[in-house]
Formats: sequence, C-alpha cells, structure tokens
Amino acid sequence: MDSCMIENMKGLMIFAVLLGAAFGHKLFVGDQVLRVTARNEEQVTLLRELEGLEHLQVDFWRTPAKVSLPVDMHVPFQNLQSIKAFLEYNDIPYSIMLEDLQLLLDQEQEEMKRSRTLERNTNSFSYSTYHTLDEIYNWADSLVAEHPDLVSKIQIGSTYENRPMYVLKFSTGGSNRPAIWIDSGIHSREWITQATGICTAKKIASDYGKDATLTSIMNNLDIFLLIVTNPDGFVYTHSTNRMWRKTRSINAGSTCIGVDPNRNWDAGFGGPGASKNPCSETYHGAYPHSEPEVKAIADFILSHGNMKSLLTIHSYSQMLLFPYGYTNDPAPDHEELNNLAREALSALTSLHGTKYTYGTTFATIYPADGTTIDWAYNNGIKYSYTFELRDTGRYGFILPANQIIPTAEETWLALMKVFEHVQNNLD
Ligand SMILES: [Zn+2]
Repeated sequence: MDSCMIENMKGLMIFAVLLGAAFGHKLFVGDQVLRVTARNEEQVTLLRELEGLEHLQVDFWRTPAKVSLPVDMHVPFQNLQSIKAFLEYNDIPYSIMLEDLQLLLDQEQEEMKRSRTLERNTNSFSYSTYHTLDEIYNWADSLVAEHPDLVSKIQIGSTYENRPMYVLKFSTGGSNRPAIWIDSGIHSREWITQATGICTAKKIASDYGKDATLTSIMNNLDIFLLIVTNPDGFVYTHSTNRMWRKTRSINAGSTCIGVDPNRNWDAGFGGPGASKNPCSETYHGAYPHSEPEVKAIADFILSHGNMKSLLTIHSYSQMLLFPYGYTNDPAPDHEELNNLAREALSALTSLHGTKYTYGTTFATIYPADGTTIDWAYNNGIKYSYTFELRDTGRYGFILPANQIIPTAEETWLALMKVFEHVQNNLD
C-alpha cells in the first residue's frame, strides 16, 4: 500500500454507537438546503436582498450571481416557512436539495468514528475518511519522517488563535528552485479539499522515483503544499459548527466573528465582489492581509520569489477558474490559461467522467474581489488557478467520505497537467 489513491481498508474498525451530535455542537435539525433557479435578473436581485436580511439566517452555499447559475441556500428550520413563502410569492422556482442537514452531518460523524483506524504511519492512515487537525498534523509528521530526503515541514506563521501553520515542502535539492504553491481548506467547511490535499501529498511522496513524469518534475521544481490553510476555522468546524467558512478573528465594533480569507487579499480589495458587513460570509476584513493566515502566505510567497504557479483548492461546483475575479478585463495570459485549463480538465474528466466548467472567476461565477489567485497573478505568478472540487450540489459541502479518493485521483490528473506545463515553460 503506497498511495491513498487506492482504497485502504486495513486496520481495526471501530464500531461506535452514534448518539447524535456531541455536546457543544451547533445542531441543524430540520434545516434544509434549497436549490433556487432564478428566472430573470429581477429574481436574482430579490435573492440577493435576502443576504442583507440577517434575521432570516440564510447561509448561501452558492450565492446569487447570474440567471444561469443555481443558488443554493441553507435555511434554518424555523425560517423555512417564510423563505418558501417568499420564493412562492415571487414565483421563484426551487427544489429541496437536502431534506434535513443534521441527518447528513450525523452520518458523516458516524462514518468518521467507524472508519478510524490505528494510524501509526502514512500507510495505515485512512485516506477515505475525514480527519481532525491533530490527526492531519500527526500524519504530516509521519510523512516527513518516512521521506526525509523529499519532504520537510515549514512553519510559515500562526493563526489568529495562535495555531501553527505548516506547509509541506517537496524538494529533491537545489536552492530556491522554481516552485508551485498549492493550498487547500482556506474555507474551512470545504472538507473535501483538505482531504484531497492529504492524498496529493501522499501521492507525490509515493510516486517520486517510480513515475517518470513526476520524477522529472520533481527534479526541476519544488512543490509547497499547505493542507489546512485555515486551521482555526477547521477546528471550529469539528468542535462547534460544521458549516463555518471564515477565519475566527474578532471584528472591531461587531459581534460577528471572522473574515472571508478569499476576499482579504490585496487585489481589487474592497470592491463590490466582497462584503463590507462583518456578519457576511464574504466579509473582506478591515484592510488587505488583515488576517494573519493570509499575511503569512503572502509574506512566504513573496520572500520565496520564484513561485511559478499557485493552485488554491475550494469546493464545491466542479469548476477551474483563473484570473480575474475583480474585473472582466482579460488577463494578459488569458489564452494560455484558458488552454491549460481545458487540457487539465480533459485529463480530470477522463478518469471518472466528472464534468467541470472553466473560465475566469468573473465570467464563470461572479465578480469576486480580493481573491488569492488575483493577488498571485498580479505578483507575477502566471499559472494561478482556483479549483472548485466535487460536487455540483447533491451533497454540497457535506460530500460523503467515499468520494474522497475518486475526487483526489481525478484532481491529481489535472494537477499533473499544470505541473508539466510549468516545467515545460520555465524561463
Ligand atoms: Zn471556498
């Protein structure tokens, strides 16, 4: 067993009795996720107005953007009636995507308990289950210990709540080689992304020296992989609120916690594709790089100075996006980025038939200001992409753990296309 990309069912299975969510967890009993399809721009505007009505507590899994894109909204049980009445009154079509969010979360918890194996090293680790921060950090230490000539761990900073941020560096030598940056989990509730990050790290370590293409890549490039980009938020999704997206910083003058770290970058910061409201899920923060997590990454990448590609992994929607998000103007390298996206996705789709769409953030989803890839691109990192992994909304953020390995496998094929292109275009 040398790769997470093969189902690993070894180890002792622990069958725990599920007693519902543990004490202290926010419950979502009877909450639904509605898929809403606006008929026209007026209806999109109406849906957008719901975002401002905080007492309704609508949590947009996919925000109102344009007529062609469905809107997914998580609605608390107590407000379901009024939201459905609002939609029906305005003749806005909707369907029920998730009938009872808590049922799905209970299943997820049950699976995590059931599939937890005796994880003494990176081969007995269960790649087809979701893990806590401590488990991931312990696993990362094992990976470094098992591959001392390839993998090392660097602390690039600390979070708002003072947790260490560890990046895995994959390098076969040289000094300050051209490099690729990958991060996952900047939005903490997107659990498939951290799980895919883990598999990706294992795959690099396992395939180096065996797979000729990867070996050649690793002999020319370094890879930096930050698996848990928002550790505070991630811990909070495990301890308290599975649906937490933002950082955990306190906002001056507001009782609402957290900043959207994918609106906090110094690229079109503060524009209309982000919120000024600290209670919003897309709040941009008080100033660019206000979040220590964002600042740590920006400082690290700038001081490295030789990063050629930045890949930031999100979910869900099955999209591959490139700059820009803050303007509709095409990036100078638009055509090359577009062609590479097409090629990467054709590899991705070839494995399990998973269909992605691609294009600029602005045109494919919506205007988004202060995003990671726009900052990277404006700082000379040409091959900057946002992945939005599975699915397209059947489960949304609560993607069943049995999809981790297929998701990681297909994503790997797309990543390899980008790595190869970077290698072939070194100056
Ligand atoms: Zn995201």
